[in-house]
Amino acid sequence: MSSGSRNLGFRYCVVEPPEQLLKAGVIAARVRDESRELVRSGASCREICEKLESRIVELGASPAFPCNISISHIAAHYTPGIRDDCVVGEDDVVKIDVGAEIEGYIADTAVTVSLSEKHLGLVEASRAGLEAAMRVLKPGVRLYDIGKAVESAVRARGFKVIKNLSGHTIDRYTIHAGISIPNYADRAAWIRRIQPGTIFAIEPFTTTGRGYVVESSTVNIYAYTGKGARKAVLGELESRIMDYIESKFKTLPFTPRWLPSNMGSPNEIESALKLLAKRGILHAYPVLVEAGRGVVAQSEHTFYATKSGVIVVTDREQPEL
Ligand code: MN
Ligand code: MN
Repeated sequence: MSSGSRNLGFRYCVVEPPEQLLKAGVIAARVRDESRELVRSGASCREICEKLESRIVELGASPAFPCNISISHIAAHYTPGIRDDCVVGEDDVVKIDVGAEIEGYIADTAVTVSLSEKHLGLVEASRAGLEAAMRVLKPGVRLYDIGKAVESAVRARGFKVIKNLSGHTIDRYTIHAGISIPNYADRAAWIRRIQPGTIFAIEPFTTTGRGYVVESSTVNIYAYTGKGARKAVLGELESRIMDYIESKFKTLPFTPRWLPSNMGSPNEIESALKLLAKRGILHAYPVLVEAGRGVVAQSEHTFYATKSGVIVVTDREQPEL
């Protein structure tokens, strides 16, 4: 998914894609591809994520969200916490999901590395799902038709899609801008179409399990909801944490690993974040696991629709950074 420049049906741009988005796309794609070298049996997930997050910075962007490393039956939203880590096992199916952000413009992309031969077909099915979606992409395409293309490609390879995980539109400083792009023929998506000027991600998840995910009790990713009136009701630590989050991450997802360690003990920080989530000031992203403990693969690109075509933001050749 990473080679060459592919502009689907793209002749000239009537609605110009923002420069910051294109640059974020090149950086996210490069870091995603570099992650393949780091995913080895015995590797620490924390080291992999910290490496990828610092590469994003070195290349001139910021992480749009914490590096997600979700292994085997863990489908999404795992990143190492302040105290917890994971180690890559020899037969693991490792999903790396990274985002680069420049002035609020976000490129979101994911790849799956299978260390087990047995699951190469599952990984291929998620890639085929994404390719199938790309073949139907054009401005004005129904979201239903995108989902239908993904689902048929995945089913033809003998796997299920995860129905309650989807692609999404993206706005400035907002990773999920409110419209979901289904990975199956979802009748609820019949009316809606891709409009010119839209930034969006498509991300088929494939599985050997039941085809849906459930929330686990682990939460290592949060985001500020933007809902205020908070100062009056918060304790001293919660207020300090919120000041830091608002200035550093705005409404983008972050992980407790990114907070200065002198803010409080891991326990204090974790309970403060839980309280902030309970009050609706932070949104919590629990780790999502496959309901039947099936193995999960994922492929993802970010796109930009012009009036005349769709640009693959995270798969372009643009050596100058
Ligand atoms: Mn992603
Ligand atoms: Mn995404």
